[in-house]
Amino acid sequence: NNPNANAANDIAAHFHSFTNLTAHAQTGPLVITRGDGIFVEDDKGNRYLEAMSGLWCASLGFSNERLAKAGSDALYQLPYYHTFTGRSNPAAAALASKLISMAPVPMSKVFFANSGSEANDTAVKLIWYYNNAIGRPEKKKIIGRINAYHGVTVAAASIGGIPVNHRDFDLPIHNIMHVDCPHHFRYAQPGESEEDFATRLADNLEKRILQEGPETVAAFFAEPVMGAGGVIVPPATYFEKVQKVLAKYDVLLVADEVVCGFGRTGEMFGSTTYGMKPDIINTAKALSSGYAPISAVMVNEKIFSAIAENSGNIGTFGHGFTYSGHPVSCAIALETLNIYEEDNILAHVKSLTPQFQKGLRSYEGRKFVGEVRGVGLIGAIELFADPANRVAFDPAAKAGTRVVEIGLEQGIIVRALGDIMVLCPPLIITSEELDDLFERFARTMDIFEKSFA
Ligand code: PLP
Repeated sequence: NNPNANAANDIAAHFHSFTNLTAHAQTGPLVITRGDGIFVEDDKGNRYLEAMSGLWCASLGFSNERLAKAGSDALYQLPYYHTFTGRSNPAAAALASKLISMAPVPMSKVFFANSGSEANDTAVKLIWYYNNAIGRPEKKKIIGRINAYHGVTVAAASIGGIPVNHRDFDLPIHNIMHVDCPHHFRYAQPGESEEDFATRLADNLEKRILQEGPETVAAFFAEPVMGAGGVIVPPATYFEKVQKVLAKYDVLLVADEVVCGFGRTGEMFGSTTYGMKPDIINTAKALSSGYAPISAVMVNEKIFSAIAENSGNIGTFGHGFTYSGHPVSCAIALETLNIYEEDNILAHVKSLTPQFQKGLRSYEGRKFVGEVRGVGLIGAIELFADPANRVAFDPAAKAGTRVVEIGLEQGIIVRALGDIMVLCPPLIITSEELDDLFERFARTMDIFEKSFA
């Protein structure tokens, strides 16, 4: 490890996503070389409390030995095999079976991919294929939501509702559209209760389906809690009302559990937290605690049996990846799920939730804080120049980025989504470590506030 070589090589040859490349050429990368528990260390020996679990994924922290062993054993046993044309491997078969046993609503089969984006693109194709298989090829439209994030591949980015993922790419593609974001703080009308807000959004969804023609609307995609859109926690009755509309017009529900899945919201799935009864469930990230690229698309019996019975008429499902059901990723994911169960991660998350949410809420009323929101071990603090009047910071002030940079100096990694600060620590965090997290974050926010004095 040579920090100078790391920086030089990176600047010379590494094309980074979601990065200001001009600035990067000057500042260079933050090179992480190792991790232990909830901490990571850079190539200069600085230690950081990783309060984002990387990208919302390293739920078991950065040094789980069982996962390392599961991966290395799998590499020695069978480093690669594919799952096309009925091929399988023991880890893929066992993981599929395990996921079906854990699903929050009855599910029938699991399709493997490598990322959340691929899972969402796969779900779109499955839905289109399903409607072809049952003789209604006109039912193809997909409804997503403003501010949703479902990934960056062409269909997933289209379903998401974040402008930067559309801009410059001519997205969304044909047949994909968006309805309201369930963020009461930002979008409620003056005096509108959460309940009335949820009703209005469900009514708007119904109007949109009618306007499009219900016979053309295939599915509605939703994260239980929107992650990259700013940790948007929906009103309590939102999904109940939305699902009534979906059921009325025979529109499938896809739960994107890529962030929420496996304990983040205090239940194994965000669908349970919010009473969602999806037809398709997509998971990734914490599925392997981020230790290997893998995602899983679970489909219910209605969809699978229609496809299985009719695929003879229209041909096999022409979709799948070289690494679908990769034996090493599957072995690591299977071990991850075993650890969640054996260590009772849910009980742990439930026991720490009050401390975490209290720590977050302690920022309510602070100088630049507009709204604090969260559930389980995920939360966000939204910053404004003038919170009382909801005046945003001038983008040139780079408020969120400034907090991230101060945080690094204070030994904590947080994420800025614009001026929304996100905390999503590894689920294995202890009560003492949560205190440490909030101490580091408090120092960060103190310095941030003073920087405007
Ligand atoms: N869905 C959600 C809810 C996500 O948060 C993400 C990534 O952050 C994705 C899908 C895309 O996953 P990936 O980056 O693995 O393609």
